[in-house]
Amino acid sequence: MDAPTATTAGPAAQDDAQEDPTVHILWINAGLSCDGDSVSLTAATQPSIEELALGALPGLPKVAVHWPLIDFECGPVEGADNFVEWFFKADRGELEPFVLVVEGSIPNERVKPEGYWCGFGDDPQTGQPITTSEWLDRLAPKALAVVAIGTCATYGGIHAMAGNPTGAMGVPDYLGWEWKSQAGIPIVCIPGCPVHPDNASETLLYLLYQAAGAAPMIPLDEELRPTWLFGATVHEGCDRAGYYEQGQFATEYGSPECLVKLGCWGPVVKCNVPKRGWINGVGGCPNVGGICIACTMPGFPDKFMPFMDEPPGGHVSATASGIYGSVIRRLRNITARTVDKEPKWRGRSEELTTGYKAPW
Ligand code: SF4
Ligand code: SF4
Repeated sequence: MDAPTATTAGPAAQDDAQEDPTVHILWINAGLSCDGDSVSLTAATQPSIEELALGALPGLPKVAVHWPLIDFECGPVEGADNFVEWFFKADRGELEPFVLVVEGSIPNERVKPEGYWCGFGDDPQTGQPITTSEWLDRLAPKALAVVAIGTCATYGGIHAMAGNPTGAMGVPDYLGWEWKSQAGIPIVCIPGCPVHPDNASETLLYLLYQAAGAAPMIPLDEELRPTWLFGATVHEGCDRAGYYEQGQFATEYGSPECLVKLGCWGPVVKCNVPKRGWINGVGGCPNVGGICIACTMPGFPDKFMPFMDEPPGGHVSATASGIYGSVIRRLRNITARTVDKEPKWRGRSEELTTGYKAPW
């Protein structure tokens, strides 16, 4: 009988012996990262992590979430209340099905003669740390699905910048872009620095419904992102897009106008944050005055630096938009003045001037 797991698992973790299989979510935040994606998920509302963990949505399978951020298990290695024990169980094939969530980029452990870059728990046999990449080697082949959460885990992110000493990479670089789980599911990438809270929780929800047989194969684009979340650009969902189209550009922060001249990469970045808002529909980088630095993109950060400069191409398109926009703005001003007035026939005259013609 499994020991009860943390509050995050709710009653579900005790149901291994019952008929409905519990889907375990094993979350490793031991890649190179700031844990920002874990922190981000605590702000999710569509759905919230509580709704996921407690199975509070119709049709959800029973779920047990093993997530270091809020798990209270802290017993000794090989003890029943040891958090890492769930990962050993999965490795021994005693925990099925499970979804493996990886947070943080994977350093290349082969590029040095000794030591390790990052790890998670100790090997009881040797007393030595188990590296994060070894956990991936052990657990990925047994997982129902592997989810890379945040830009570090998906594409390498900040740690994988030119000049880094660790040879860091994303999960698809480590396992292979064509890798598929035993259930035939490719690696699911949810980029963002940090990941958008609801993009993370909604993707996990989708996979849980897929595990329950209630959803088809998750649709992913070439960079392994859920298509319904990353199919449009920041620009297409930005509150300031109207200013761009009219050629009105901010030259300093605090303006409501388009931020492209301040360094916004929104026109070429796939991200739904301005459309979705950041927390509970509120916020979203350019909507609230921050330039888009392209944090969801595989080329982040190297291909988008220096961040505060006008993007290449931005000058040409902004100049074209400026010329076109000034003409359009003048014409719109004429139209706007016209439609900003009531029709002339409304008033207290003795005569009916609406154009009505009596049919008799
Ligand atoms: S602020 Fe950025 S995303 Fe918004 S309209 Fe301007 S260029 Fe596009
Ligand atoms: S709008 Fe840009 S900076 Fe903001 S989350 Fe999306 S990609 Fe990142």
